[in-house]
Amino acid sequence: MSLFDRTAHELGEMLRRREVSAVEVTEAVLKRVESVDPVVKAYLTTTPELARAMARAVDSRLQRGEELPPLAGIPMGLKDNFSTTGVRTTCASKMLEHYVPPFDCTVYQKLMHQMSPLIGKHNMDEFAMGSSTETSAFFPTHNPWDLERVPGGSSGGSAAAVAAGEAIFALGTDTGGSIRQPAAFCGVVGLKPTYGRVSRSGVVPFASSLDHIGPITKTVTDAALVLNAIAGHDPGDSTTVKREVPDYTSFLKDDVRGLRIGLPQEFFAEGLDPEIKEGIFATVKQLEAAGAQVVEVSLPHAQATEAVYYLVASAECSSNLARYDGVRFGYRSSTAPDVQTMYKHTRGEAFGLMVKRRILLGTYALITGNYDVYYRKAMQVRTLIVRDFERAFEQCDVLISSTTPTPAYKMGEKSKDPVALALSDLFTIPANLAAIPAISVPGGYTKEGLPYGLQIMGPAFGEGRVLQVAYTVEKLVDARQRKPELPEKGGVA
Ligand code: GLN
Repeated sequence: MSLFDRTAHELGEMLRRREVSAVEVTEAVLKRVESVDPVVKAYLTTTPELARAMARAVDSRLQRGEELPPLAGIPMGLKDNFSTTGVRTTCASKMLEHYVPPFDCTVYQKLMHQMSPLIGKHNMDEFAMGSSTETSAFFPTHNPWDLERVPGGSSGGSAAAVAAGEAIFALGTDTGGSIRQPAAFCGVVGLKPTYGRVSRSGVVPFASSLDHIGPITKTVTDAALVLNAIAGHDPGDSTTVKREVPDYTSFLKDDVRGLRIGLPQEFFAEGLDPEIKEGIFATVKQLEAAGAQVVEVSLPHAQATEAVYYLVASAECSSNLARYDGVRFGYRSSTAPDVQTMYKHTRGEAFGLMVKRRILLGTYALITGNYDVYYRKAMQVRTLIVRDFERAFEQCDVLISSTTPTPAYKMGEKSKDPVALALSDLFTIPANLAAIPAISVPGGYTKEGLPYGLQIMGPAFGEGRVLQVAYTVEKLVDARQRKPELPEKGGVA
């Protein structure tokens, strides 16, 4: 097996046994990027020199026989909304095309502490708004399983990179599904932790009450390892909680005996691809045979999900994105005769259509007179959705559903239809509204050979239980038998 195909856990063991050097691992991943990224297009920026320097530092510590952190020497990538000193951070927007942050976000600091080499920054939907990576101002990313299809979004570059072996793991952001949906489309694992578990300090905000950071990995074990490295309270983010971080790898047990698994009936209604539905049910049957108890539950306010999300997310985005006015950083229009016009032209010229649509909708929802009718109302309904989950978790330990209604679709197929695009987040948004942990693990493949994801949600701070069930599902499905076949540079697959 090639080094770039291996997991963080496997590579960590190989490094510790001195079977391979960190430089060799990093070079293998950099070479992989060179050979397949011309077709996948997962990276906006690569940082080979940074990666090599970190790998050399790891090797010299290994040579001195020093203990290393679990992710030392494991090459990774970051979505391009994570601030990285000296490395441009564009949010895939013309607005920040040349923006180079003077500071690091907390999670990148933590990964540098782990000595994990940074391969580069991943393509995404502009400012994380979208579900297909087609709203990137620069270029779309392609799904490694079928280059004519989207990788999902908005962390589509990150999921595609991990699936294609162009990074061993990545960090993404998830406001309404942006870690889990691309993970499902690309056949990898994506975990959105509980709100407050992982610091967002230094990560460009979209909707502050919904934004989360989490790992995109090849396996559930790797997700636990990365969560161990990034979780915890941070004085730089007042929404993080002071609560002990357990060792998440201690939950990786292939055992679901006595666990109550809830199936939210609203998530299995119309719109769900029949092949995926059958696949998820088959896995649930296997969990039952392994000793789990299956119960049907209801989330009666599920039908309000989209309406609440688009109001809350847009309102918060209109306020967060007000800072891009051409004055302090980023793009500035040079065509304006005065300051007022400069603001207008800057925002008009440098934001894409999807971002403008959200800002308009959000500003409208917040103006005096509308606030009570829209934003406040949406927050009230959000509370009802939170209560639905609280009630459901009285009856079960975790909830299982499909991650998405369909597998990855063709590029261009939904980009002109915002409603169709929005519907692809139907099953992922509720966990953001309720602030609870949710993971997408590979659930299987369609007859066409496209991967799909199985989602497991748990109560707040129940990441351990969620990982335990995910680990069991991973063993049952055994999806890593298959790999995407990619044409290497200049050749065919
Ligand atoms: N697709 C959703 C949106 O466009 C979610 C995006 C996200 O989670 N960042 O808002």
